[in-house]
Amino acid sequence: MNMQAILALSYLIGSITFIVGLKMLSHPDSARRGNLVAAAGMAAAILATIFLYQDEMGNPLNNYGWIFAGLIVGTVVGTLSAKKVQMTAMPEMVSMFNGMGGACAMLISIIEFHHLTSDFTWELYEESGYTFFSSLPGGMLATILIGMVIGSVSFAGSVIAWGKLNGKIKDRSFNGQHIVNLGLLAIVAGLILLILVARPGQTITYFYLILALSLVYGVLFVLPIGGADMPVVISLLNSFTGVAAAFGGFLYNNPVMLTGGILVGSAGTILTILMCKAMNRSLKNVLIGSFGAQATGGSGEAKDQGHYKEISLNDTAVLMAYAQKVMIIPGYGLAVAQAQHACHELEKLLNEKGVEVYYGIHPVAGRMPGHMNVLLAEADVPYEKLMEMEDANEQMSTTSVVMIIGANDVVNPAAKEDPSSPIYGMPILEVERAEHVIVNKRSMKPGYAGIENDLFFKPKTSMLFGDAKKVLQDLVSELKQV
Ligand code: NDP
Repeated sequence: MNMQAILALSYLIGSITFIVGLKMLSHPDSARRGNLVAAAGMAAAILATIFLYQDEMGNPLNNYGWIFAGLIVGTVVGTLSAKKVQMTAMPEMVSMFNGMGGACAMLISIIEFHHLTSDFTWELYEESGYTFFSSLPGGMLATILIGMVIGSVSFAGSVIAWGKLNGKIKDRSFNGQHIVNLGLLAIVAGLILLILVARPGQTITYFYLILALSLVYGVLFVLPIGGADMPVVISLLNSFTGVAAAFGGFLYNNPVMLTGGILVGSAGTILTILMCKAMNRSLKNVLIGSFGAQATGGSGEAKDQGHYKEISLNDTAVLMAYAQKVMIIPGYGLAVAQAQHACHELEKLLNEKGVEVYYGIHPVAGRMPGHMNVLLAEADVPYEKLMEMEDANEQMSTTSVVMIIGANDVVNPAAKEDPSSPIYGMPILEVERAEHVIVNKRSMKPGYAGIENDLFFKPKTSMLFGDAKKVLQDLVSELKQV
């Protein structure tokens, strides 16, 4: 078998491992292995490219210094940051890594644009009176330009999303932001058309103008999005990076890059649609940007909404021990407190006492898609115990005790009752239909969307204040004595 056949085979194997790996990611039991399978395929494809690739003239790659320097720096930075990252900071890291993918696509386009333009004999070109596009290999310029626009929007947007998730960047918007965003897109589209019919001297100016405006669009697109809407945007940016990588695959005629890009792009798009459904938002709003801007501004202070009642650990233990069915609703606070193991302890103990225990999982609980599933899987909570929101809501009226642990926005009745609320329309876990509601958090402060939660003041609700891990550990001790 010659070198090129081996290279093609390694691309085929790489593509298959991506598909198999993606399939395995869909279940917590196989997800870890799925990740490794896809990573092994990617490593094989990269190494095969480095050592086996030859251009049309039969020349191998020759810039090994740059390639290995990049690989070493990337591996070291990636490994260290992945090892160091706290579980609750994962979304920020995912966002930053995603942004780096977008930046790669952007840089590829810049370099290939210069390759393309340097291949022309400009004098002849000027004399002929041809436009730039009329002398180009078909579609190549369009591929470069579209890849660059999508990559740079994804890069700039992901960096802003990273800053917003870790609190370094605040939500900002201004009147008419929709119009400005749409205007920017229209100008970028116009410049792309212009470049196709431009005279040689003008192309570079248009090209860098497109790049700059795409970066500005990426920033303006994500900057105003706040409240509870970030998950949709992160997922959308992820799909953008996939599409930008797929354009790179077209450009280099590289099947594995194309498959990887298409898979990321389509998986990201499907996830975006699912998240939109979960948040009850339309994709149109996401694309125009600036929805949810008014959802921000949580001062962290609770307004006076009447009285709430507290419950002691002992009373909670008694209530749970004599319950028939308990539904645990985990949220971001469970992840912050790293209370998943204590939570599983509580569930096992209740099971031993003959109490049925389920978990009600809201699709945007926590700070990343699937956050609660990953967290609970880490503590070996059986997957069958996790109920999706719709199923959990069906079970609510036959549930004796709902125990909310570090969740807030995902159980906020304002989403159903208050049309002026920024989260109005988002489906929630309808805990009020259960017999008793116990809420564990540390204070009366709002959650991510920065808004008050009337649930805490309802007659059925009792507050159990404290750090989730400590409270759950103490609750387990109390339960053992009941
Ligand atoms: P929220 O952010 O609404 O609420 C979390 C609550 O946990 C807070 O009110 C906080 O209250 C409490 N908490 C924090 N630390 C602890 C602790 N150590 N022990 C006990 N409680 C604690 O989280 P939800 O999961 O309910 O909702 C997720 C929100 O995040 C939604 O608005 C969603 O849109 C958004 N989001 C989701 C993403 C995703 O992909 N899942 C991505 C980005 C945003 P207190 O300070 O009083 O303890």
